[in-house]
Amino acid sequence: MISIEAFIFVAMSDKLYIYNSLTREKTVFEPLNPPFVGMYVCGPTVYNEVHLGNLRTFISFDLIYRWLTARGYKVRYVRNITDVGHLENDADEGEDKISKRARLEQLEPMEIAQKYSNRFHEVLSLFRCIPPSIEPTATGHIIEQIELIQAILSKGLAYEVNGSIYFDVKKYAEHNHYGILSGRNIEELLSGTRNLDGQDEKRNPLDFALWKKADPSHIMRWPSPWGNGFPGWHLECSAMSTKYLGTTFDIHGGGMDLKFPHHECEIAQHCAAHGSMPVKYWIHGNMLTLNGKKMSKSDGNFVLPFDLINGTPPLVDKPYSPLSIRFFMLQAHYGSTLDLSMEALGAADKAFKRLQQSVKDLSEIQPGDTLADFDIGKWTDACQAAMNDDFNSPVLIANLFEAVKIINACKDKSKSLDKQQLAILKEHIQLYFYQVLGLDETASGVVESEMMNGIMQLILELRKTAREQKDWKTSDKIRDTLQSLKITIKDGKEGSTWQINN
Ligand code: AMP
Ligand code: ZN
Repeated sequence: MISIEAFIFVAMSDKLYIYNSLTREKTVFEPLNPPFVGMYVCGPTVYNEVHLGNLRTFISFDLIYRWLTARGYKVRYVRNITDVGHLENDADEGEDKISKRARLEQLEPMEIAQKYSNRFHEVLSLFRCIPPSIEPTATGHIIEQIELIQAILSKGLAYEVNGSIYFDVKKYAEHNHYGILSGRNIEELLSGTRNLDGQDEKRNPLDFALWKKADPSHIMRWPSPWGNGFPGWHLECSAMSTKYLGTTFDIHGGGMDLKFPHHECEIAQHCAAHGSMPVKYWIHGNMLTLNGKKMSKSDGNFVLPFDLINGTPPLVDKPYSPLSIRFFMLQAHYGSTLDLSMEALGAADKAFKRLQQSVKDLSEIQPGDTLADFDIGKWTDACQAAMNDDFNSPVLIANLFEAVKIINACKDKSKSLDKQQLAILKEHIQLYFYQVLGLDETASGVVESEMMNGIMQLILELRKTAREQKDWKTSDKIRDTLQSLKITIKDGKEGSTWQINN
């Protein structure tokens, strides 16, 4: 296995280019304090299961984290958990998403946050995402958020109304560029917003909540200088990124849909409090779409990771392994949209299995003398150049398939590689396939999940046979026993499916 140190020497000599959403340019990555890199990624709001769109964003940043680490940077990767303050809509209206879910499930809000944080971690580990270095929660940082509000108030850029605090966008924009990240123009934004209806506490519709007053029935509330309440959604990321990464740090990431208003407001809060920009490189992952439309829970246009893993009909045609799904996502550049369809997923599944087989075959291959026309140095340079070009995983994968051709030729003995070429090829496959793309099937959970799938398919087939023979006793016994193990079988037109109840 190649040592990371040996690789650093090669890779660090070449520059890494990153597309910065703030400058809208691809530029050389120069960390503020090398070899240290601070990276903050907006994490999930833990009020329900993550869908495949959310998962895509976390896989994209996992790839970025892995490549930065492979280049030798000492990365502090901070990804938050939003467990309070995210209201149902961006206009600071509606119920808190977690409180609402708690009401529906008749649980404590903290039970909801814990339940879906656990699920989130399970899913991410199944999909081979390395956990962040720090995973702070919004509820664990109320004091820091109150301090940040006080700093903004002291600059005269926020105001209090009836126990709530709002950020004064219009006043901020007099001396700062509100819209610097999203490219939105404040005049157009102002003309595009509805008029305040007199009931509204805001001076201006563009203003956003830093703190919301909570009435006594509200469980998620904390004392503050302005009375009991809870923080606004944008605030937590500003407070926690500054706390763990400093007043200016290297990379801030999240999905493209967070550029506005979330990240724009983060910049405004930070500039208002500290008088400087928070982040050097903003990176935004593009959306996973379904039927050409952004995958989204609120629109009902979504697929869950376990729908694919279990092959839940009618949308999903067969079970897919987490690694095939990860590979499917990595076949697209993080900055491009990707549409989820069974055709595309099926093709990715086949391609992944071919690549995986080649990687296995490579370990059996011995050096020989019928040398293949393969410039190993050029190939390793091409792999490295792909990742250095804004983490271009599709180009890296195309290069890995160039190696597949050679591996196949070596396997059928029509060509061979000499000892040194073979050693370099093995080291780099190890590096790119396992460490950088994270396609390691022996990782915990992946093998178990495939095994569980296989066993469940067998059980469903046996039950189907029993039902065809009108052996209701056996078929009911299978269903009831599984139910006692918290596995529910659903019978539908397309056949039977299973799911684990939590
Ligand atoms: P949320 O839990 O809604 O705050 O979302 C968590 C992360 O998933 C954020 O970075 C979002 O930008 C991202 N996200 C949401 N929908 C999609 C999608 N369809 N494709 C890719 N990323 C998404
Ligand atoms: Zn955030």
